[in-house]
Order: sequence, then structure tokens, then C-alpha cells
Amino acid sequence: MRLTNKIALVTGAARGIGQAIAEEFARQGAAVIVTDVDEQAGQQVASDIGDSAQFLPLDVGSEDAWAAISERVRDDFGRLDILVNNAGITGFMSHPGPFDPEHFNLDSWHAVHRVNLDGVALGCKYAIGLMKHSPAASIVNISSRSGMVGIPAAAAYASSKAAVRNHTKSVALYCAEKSYPIRCNSIHPGAILTPIWEAMLGEGEARQQAIAAIAADIPLQHMGSPQDVAFAAVYLACDESKYVTGTELTIDGGILAGSSARPPTSDEE
Ligand code: NDP
Repeated sequence: MRLTNKIALVTGAARGIGQAIAEEFARQGAAVIVTDVDEQAGQQVASDIGDSAQFLPLDVGSEDAWAAISERVRDDFGRLDILVNNAGITGFMSHPGPFDPEHFNLDSWHAVHRVNLDGVALGCKYAIGLMKHSPAASIVNISSRSGMVGIPAAAAYASSKAAVRNHTKSVALYCAEKSYPIRCNSIHPGAILTPIWEAMLGEGEARQQAIAAIAADIPLQHMGSPQDVAFAAVYLACDESKYVTGTELTIDGGILAGSSARPPTSDEE
């Protein structure tokens, strides 16, 4: 019960990583506000968690929506202790491509940044106001391994995630300068098997082959689970990380540790 007495809000929590974070936070004793644009699935996640969770609709790219949910949290709880800015899109399913640096569609570029970057920046903006009344608050921004390296076929996604990585540090330093009781850190997942991958995996036998091909390029030789990211979020959200701000935590099976390319060993020659 590492989050007892904490009030937490998780964005994009109707499925995938956000759902796992909401569930784990509740297991660790937090009161959890589950938010998402998918109201039906979000309601289901909250009701499956039970009395410690409630669902509120939230489109993270809308400042009006953030203003409204802040008022609601202030009225219901008087403060916020934890925000996980998790909602994110690749744009592949929802917006026309391509997404490469030479041919990208500008409307799609903006749409991806609206959710992934504006959504995080607005979340931080409104959370700071609510968290000043917390004894010890934490903002956890879900960036990506793509925030640290380029992705030629997903340039808007990579650009937005790199901006999240940097904005996290601005927020961390700003709150420290102001002596606010608020830390801010980023998590950088890589290859976590969630619905975000479906557009890239195909179906049936092809899907299994695609997953195996991805796993072959991961040093730990398998894709991660949403729970792997949820455990990291618990650490950054709870008071065990009270001396940690402005940092980045990579959860990627070793992908960013470096290339495994090497000269052949003598027995391979
Ligand atoms: P999913 O697509 O499984 O879940 C994302 C959730 O966010 C969905 O419920 C989606 O709703 C919701 N959402 C989309 N747009 C908005 C919005 N404007 N406001 C609020 N909610 C919204 O993704 P993952 O769980 O895989 O990813 C979660 C986060 O982790 C994202 O930021 C992603 O970029 C990041 N990440 C994921 C990795 C992975 O391998 N899975 C790797 C690196 C980073 P709907 O379904 O209705 O669109």
C-alpha cells in the first residue's frame, strides 16, 4: 500500500498502459480518477476497480476539458497528489498518413501533437494548481523510447514524445524554483504489447510472426506488458522517489542500452 491517502488522476486509462496504472494505483491504496475519451471503456475500468475509482471523461487536448475536470477534482477532493499524463496516439489509426519527414500530412502532424504534447502540457498546467495543496505531489509523464531516438515512419509521434521528455524537465525545475511540493518525471516505455500496436501487427499467424520479429530485436527477447510500466509509475508516484525530479526512466527491455551489433566471435567465424 505505497499510495495510501493519495489522490491520483490517470489520462487515457480506458485500456493499455493507463488501465494497468489505474488498477495498480488502486491496489496500492490510492483513490483513482480514471479518465479517457472512450467513456464506455473508461466507466468499465473504474467499476471493475471498485469504490476507490471513479470515471470522468477527458479529452487531454482540450483546455476547456482540463479546466472543468480541475474544478471537479477541487470540489470533490480539495487537491491532487498524482497525475499520470498517459494518453497518447501514433495517429496511424485515426489520421491520414504518411508520417515520414518528407511527405507528412500537416493536419495529422498537428493532431498527434495536440494529444501527445498539448495534452501533457495542459495536464501539467492544471495539475500544478491542484497540487500546491498536496503534502507531496508527483507528475508522471508517459513519453516513449521514441522520445530519445528518431522514428522515420512516425516522425510526429517521435517529435511529440521528445518534447514531452524536455517539458518534463522544465516543469520539474519550475516547481522546484517555486518551492512547490511537486516532482515531475518521465517514463520511456518501448515495445509494450497494448492495443496501440494493433495497426502494425496484423492478425492471426502474421500477428504472431510480427510479435516474434519485434521480440528478436529486444535484448530481453520479449515485448513488455502494461504492468511493467505500472510498477515504474508507482515508484515515481509514491514518496519513495521524494528526491527524484526531472529524470527519465526507460522501461524497454534494454532496447536503448545500445546496439547488439558486434564483430563475430572466433567460434562464429
Ligand atoms: P492505447 O492506444 O492502448 O491506449 C491509449 C488510450 O488513450 C486509449 O484508451 C485512447 O482512447 C486514449 N486516448 C486517445 N486520445 C485521447 C485523448 N485525446 N484524450 C484522452 N484519452 C485519449 O495506448 P498504450 O496504452 O499503448 O499507450 C499509453 C501511452 O504510452 C501513450 O502515451 C503511448 O504513446 C505510450 N507508449 C506506449 C508504448 C507501447 O509500446 N505500447 C511505447 C512507448 C510509449 P481511444 O481508444 O478511444 O483512442
